[in-house]
Amino acid sequence: MSEPIAPKRALEHAPVLFPRNAHGELLVGGQRLSVLAERVGQTPFYAYDRSLLKARVADLRAALPQGIELHYAMKANPMPALVQWMAGLVDGIDVASAGELQVALNAGADPHEISFAGPGKRDIELGQAVAAGVLVNVESARELSTLARASQRLGLPARVALRVNPDFELKGSGMRMSGGPKQFGIDAEALPEVLAEVGRLSGDGVSFEGFHLFAGSQNLKAEAICEAQQKSYELALRLAEAAPSPVKFLNLGGGFGIPYFPGESRLDLAPIADNLATLQQRVKADLPSAKLVIELGRYFVGEAGIYVSRIVDRKVSRGQVFLVADGGLHHHLSASGNFGQVLRKNYPASVEPQGRRETATEAASVVGPLCTPLDLLADRMDMARGEIGDLAVVYQSGAYGRSASPAGFLGHPDVVEVLV
Ligand SMILES: *Cc1c(COP(=O)(O)O)cnc(C)c1O
Repeated sequence: MSEPIAPKRALEHAPVLFPRNAHGELLVGGQRLSVLAERVGQTPFYAYDRSLLKARVADLRAALPQGIELHYAMKANPMPALVQWMAGLVDGIDVASAGELQVALNAGADPHEISFAGPGKRDIELGQAVAAGVLVNVESARELSTLARASQRLGLPARVALRVNPDFELKGSGMRMSGGPKQFGIDAEALPEVLAEVGRLSGDGVSFEGFHLFAGSQNLKAEAICEAQQKSYELALRLAEAAPSPVKFLNLGGGFGIPYFPGESRLDLAPIADNLATLQQRVKADLPSAKLVIELGRYFVGEAGIYVSRIVDRKVSRGQVFLVADGGLHHHLSASGNFGQVLRKNYPASVEPQGRRETATEAASVVGPLCTPLDLLADRMDMARGEIGDLAVVYQSGAYGRSASPAGFLGHPDVVEVLV
C-alpha cells in the first residue's frame, strides 16, 4: 500500500514588487487584479506595470554613476508597447534579430543607440542593420565582409563593434555565455587579426566603434559581476591598442539577476556602482572618446510582470491538492522550470480568491492543462485556499515569458499581454 505523500510546504517566497490594497487585493498599475482581469476579458494573460518599469530604471540610474549608458536588451520582453515604453526610459535598445530591430525602430528608438548582437546574422539582416544605421556587434569575420559589401551597395557606413569571446567566465551565472569555446563573439586571441581587417575595410565603409563583451546572465553576486566588468575592461583596453580608430562604445554586458527563488534577495548595487565609477575614471584617461554601456534585459523587466491564469479544476490526489489552471508552460516555460534551470524551484506565486473573502490557506500545486508532468507553475506552495474561478498569479514573469515559450504545444489558445 502506498503512503499518501505529505505536502512539502514552501513557506518562503522571493520578494515581490506588486503591492496590495488595504483589503489585501493585488494591485497592478494601481488597479485591482479582479478589475484588470475583467478589463482584459480573458485568461491567461501577462500584465506588465509601467510604474514598476519606470521606477526600476530610475532607481538604477540613481544608484550608478552618471554617464553610464543603460541599454535594454529587448529579447527579455519584446512586446512592442513595452519596448516603446522602455525606449523612452533607457539610453538604447539591444536587439538580437532583424525582427527585434524592426520593433525597436517602430518604437522610436534612436538608431544611433541601437546595437545588434547575435550569432548567425544573415546577409539580409546585416543589410537591414546598415540601412537602419545601427551598430552591429560583429560575431565573425564573415559578418565583417558582408557588412562591407552592404555599405558599398547602400553608400552608408557600416557601424561595427567587435563582440569578444573573452578568456574568462562570469562566475555564478544562471547561463554562461563566454569563456572557452563558444558560438558567441570572436575569440580574444583572434581579435588583433580581425581588427587589422577592420582597418583594411575602413576604406570600404566599415566604421569601427568599439567592443562588446557579454559574460552571462541572471547573476545575483555583485562581486562576480564586478570582477567580470574589470576583466572585460582590461581586455578591451589591450585590444584597443590594435584598433584602427578610437573606441566610442565599450559595452561591458550586464548579467544583473533578480530574485526568483526562496532565500534569494535583490542584487546589491553599491559595489557595482563603485566599480563602475572606478572604471569610468580609467576610461577618461585610457579611452577618452568611449562611453561605457551596460545592457540589461531581465533586471529591467522581470519583476514588473505577472502571469495570470484562472483555476478551472480543483483535485486532491493522495492528499495533495492540485489547482488546474487554464495557463501553463505553453505560455510560461521558465516558471515551469524548463528554461535552463537545473533544479526546478518555485517562482513566487499566489492564489487570488475571486468574489469572496478567503482566510484559509493550504499547501497546493498549481498545474497547467497540458498532458505532461512538466506543466507545473507552483509545486506544493502555501497559498490561499483556491477554488474554481479563482486567479493564480505567477510573479517575476516580465522577462523570458511569452516569447520564450512553446505556444503551439498542445493547441491551446494564445496568451494576451497588457501594459498597465
Ligand atoms: C540575453 C542577452 C542579454 C540580456 O540578458 P539578461 O539576463 O536578460 O539581462 C544581454 N545581452 C546579450 C548579448 C544577450 O544575449
